[in-house]
Amino acid sequence: MVFDSAQEALVAATVWARERDKGNFRTGGRPILVQFPQGHKQARGSAEWLRFPVMDLTYPQEAETFRKEIRAWLEENLPAGWFEPDFSLSGEERVRFNETWTQKLFAGGWICAGWPVEYGGKGLSLMDQVVLNEEFAKANAPMRADFFGDTLVGPTILQWGTDEQKKEFIPGILNGTIAWCQGFSEPNSGSDLASLKTTAVLDGDEWIINGQKVWTTQAQHADYVFLLTRTDPDAPQHAGISYLLVPMHQDGVDVRPITQVDGSAEFNEVFFTNARCPKANVIGGVNNGWKVAMTTLGFERGSSSTTGYRRFLKEWEFIVSEARRVNRLNDELVRDALVKAWSKVKIMEINGYRTLTDALNNTHHAALLGACNKMFWSEAHRASTELAIDIVGMEAQILTGKGPVTGPSGAFRRGRSDYPVSELQAAFFFARSETIWGGTAEIQRNIIGERALGLPKEPRVTT
Ligand SMILES: Cc1cc2nc3c(=O)[nH]c(=O)nc-3n(C[C@H](O)[C@H](O)[C@H](O)COP(=O)(O)OP(=O)(O)OC[C@H]3O[C@@H](n4cnc5c(N)ncnc54)[C@H](O)[C@@H]3O)c2cc1C
Repeated sequence: MVFDSAQEALVAATVWARERDKGNFRTGGRPILVQFPQGHKQARGSAEWLRFPVMDLTYPQEAETFRKEIRAWLEENLPAGWFEPDFSLSGEERVRFNETWTQKLFAGGWICAGWPVEYGGKGLSLMDQVVLNEEFAKANAPMRADFFGDTLVGPTILQWGTDEQKKEFIPGILNGTIAWCQGFSEPNSGSDLASLKTTAVLDGDEWIINGQKVWTTQAQHADYVFLLTRTDPDAPQHAGISYLLVPMHQDGVDVRPITQVDGSAEFNEVFFTNARCPKANVIGGVNNGWKVAMTTLGFERGSSSTTGYRRFLKEWEFIVSEARRVNRLNDELVRDALVKAWSKVKIMEINGYRTLTDALNNTHHAALLGACNKMFWSEAHRASTELAIDIVGMEAQILTGKGPVTGPSGAFRRGRSDYPVSELQAAFFFARSETIWGGTAEIQRNIIGERALGLPKEPRVTT
């Protein structure tokens, strides 16, 4: 078996050894050859040789007690039959389920459960949040994650906001009454975000905003945008930016959808023409927006780090079933590629534990681990969906989807409901964007090179 990197080869060897120890397969005494990429030493040994020290993955007793509590809550609150293997919901049933589920989650206190009690959270410890996420993921139960509210702007307001701002905005994020979008990127300012040109000028008690944002996901449904604006044109680029919370429903805001390859229009161009927001809606102070934005972008995902790999594992299992369906599972090249894809999912799982360990030990490598993880999973996922399309062959080139179906993760598949992309095609299309949003894979490499490896900074073009 030949792997792309020594890390992948080691992971595969470790997992083989562990499974062999559990008696899950026998090598019949045959040696296992792990061939490292060119330039690395080849390692040959019997299965006995493959004995690696295994990470201790046990959790504290209190966390295990909490796990039982969550499991019991899920069993009591999910629809009858949810845990049966052939359980499914029709499109209509799922819509009804979604409507009531958020209310149940809110009543149970499970939305943003790590937030402080005084602002409506449960103040859960990181370990308990991890267990909460794990139990929801195992049960395939949706944890409401309004990505922009729960994960980005909510924690930013908690960290940088004044008490008044927290009281004004946090309850609406928790109960889902305010929907958010992120107004950072502009037509000429994506990776080079600090060059942004949208302006905000103070006029009495209000900011007057002019400019254009682009790729603004969910802007068509949002009540507020957290917006980066230039408030001091004379200051150095990073020092003249402010982070504003701007109401979307006003005449000065024009949202124009951008149609995507899967027929949907999840993101938009947003034009601001003399749009207004209260003077008090600056987060973190006037001209301090760059620092605030960096916290928004860098929020560590410690609590979901051990569950993120699961959707890729489910999708990988689905690709294997597709390979079986089209009679390609005995093709050696296909098998080889599937094992490589699987070893990458295993690396994601292990990287998740590494991120959690960092968060629990307060070793503060979250930003760098985040850059490594984002680069790794997005490229691995793009490659695995390309593999899936290759395996399925000509059929994958034809639109065969049948409207709103659930994908391998149990979630609605992406794509417009009446546009017949299959779940695999929809995953393939969306994977193309994953190496771009949230910082491109090249930018993650720059971060790793400069901040982790201490390489010289790349030359920058200044105009
Ligand atoms: C699905 C999706 C949803 C998005 N949602 C939002 C949203 O809600 N809100 C929002 O504000 N933005 C959003 N974005 C925008 C996203 O943040 C930007 O697309 C991203 O930051 C890249 O910027 P850009 O598109 O301008 O590409 P550019 O920055 O122009 O980059 C073009 C290419 O050049 C490479 N490149 C650029 N600079 C360097 C460098 N210094 N070194 C090496 N290579 C470099 C890039 O890696 C890329 O391959 C979304 C994007 C996508 C795809």
